Amino acid sequence: MDIKKIFENNKEWVQERLSAEPEYFKKLSQGQSPKILYIGCSDSRVSSEELMGVGPGDVFVHRNIANMVPNTDLNSMSVINYAVEHLEVEHVVVCGHYYCGGVKAAMQSSDLGLLNPWLRNIRDVYRIHKEELSLIEDEDERYKKFVELNVQEQCVNVIKTADVQKAIRKRNLSVHGWVFDIHSGKLIDLKIDFDAILENIMEIYRLDD
Ligand SMILES: [Zn+2]
Repeated sequence: MDIKKIFENNKEWVQERLSAEPEYFKKLSQGQSPKILYIGCSDSRVSSEELMGVGPGDVFVHRNIANMVPNTDLNSMSVINYAVEHLEVEHVVVCGHYYCGGVKAAMQSSDLGLLNPWLRNIRDVYRIHKEELSLIEDEDERYKKFVELNVQEQCVNVIKTADVQKAIRKRNLSVHGWVFDIHSGKLIDLKIDFDAILENIMEIYRLDD
């Protein structure tokens, strides 16, 4: 793609928006109050807003390799803090995707230099769920399940934070685990049973006000 084309596209987009709603950008500049925090993968094929059919102002978005929420990652922790404490979003979504390169890399033993510590967080997910994953003989199916379990573990990491625990107690914030299936274009709700998971983990991770 010609990089200059992007500016032409932008001009067209501004015109389209203004012809549909003359005050569009004026309204947009007045502030944001998104109801959803979306944490997804940086993969160029997983275009978050487009696949959800939402526009500017609708969703607060954080993307990184393999939609991770590492406990000591200041970037994702700051995004969660700002979205939950200040924007007061009602939903936090962790959205993974099948055929994720980051998850695939964590299934292999190559030394990828600077990427190693990031991928190690994904390898930790494999270790936690090794028993379940090793029972799946078909590699493709195991890869898919690993993507799903990674989403689940990142949701758990979201729930470990004090901001999210407080918002769940005080205003019923909900956490969701989704997967985007690149092969079909469908968004899948993993319907993770957080009550069961929480019962299991809150003894360890509970933080009181
Ligand atoms: Zn990915």
